[in-house]
Amino acid sequence: MTTQSRRVQLQENLNRTREAIAAACVDAGRSPDSVRLIAVTKTFPASDAAALVELGQTDLGENRDQEAHPKAVDLAARGLEPVWHFVGQLQRNKARSVASYADWVHSVDRITLASALDAAATAHGRNLNALIQVSLDGDVSRGGVLVADLEGLAERIADAPSIHLKGVMAVAPIGWEPAKAFALLAECSETVKRTDPGAVEISAGMSGDYQAAIAAGATMVRLGRNVLGERESMA
Ligand SMILES: *Cc1c(COP(=O)(O)O)cnc(C)c1O
Repeated sequence: MTTQSRRVQLQENLNRTREAIAAACVDAGRSPDSVRLIAVTKTFPASDAAALVELGQTDLGENRDQEAHPKAVDLAARGLEPVWHFVGQLQRNKARSVASYADWVHSVDRITLASALDAAATAHGRNLNALIQVSLDGDVSRGGVLVADLEGLAERIADAPSIHLKGVMAVAPIGWEPAKAFALLAECSETVKRTDPGAVEISAGMSGDYQAAIAAGATMVRLGRNVLGERESMA
């Protein structure tokens, strides 16, 4: 595919996705601009990410530092500075790298990781927006803090100088009704808001379940396939 035809395709995908998000908002009785689209560019080349930014898509997401960091450097070299969202499971030893380019980390799920990100952001002279990833079914192998431990983690992040608590994130557990998953996440959001009333963001919804997430109050949806097309292999 030529660069130009790929760009046209991405533009069409973006338009269609934005319209679908706005329609889901209206269905839910919400303002059509109350949900932020994060285009998840994982497994797709930096040229696609650059094209999306040039088409006006400001928020991009990635789930692996090994891929995200060079992509962020590549775009910066083109003079493009999207808002980068790190959405994947994160090892503490990657905190320093992620804090060098990410604006948001959606997957803060333990105190040791929060401390590492805070120290790294301070060292880089940057601030990070943090979402607490919640394990809705208690299977922490897929990332996320247990619901029972959410409040303690929120309190620790609220005290950190360089990471700012902004809300919660979850992935709907395999085999769960999305509506049930996102209703539980909305309860988790209320818990976090008791610690910090300003932490109102809810990152929920992927290409297969974003309408249910918007109906349950999501403020950010993380869409890969809807915007970029099918991935050749699962990342
Ligand atoms: C890949 C990924 C997405 C996007 O998934 P799609 O099904 O392509 O929309 C969203 N969130 C996370 C955490 C991901 O890893």
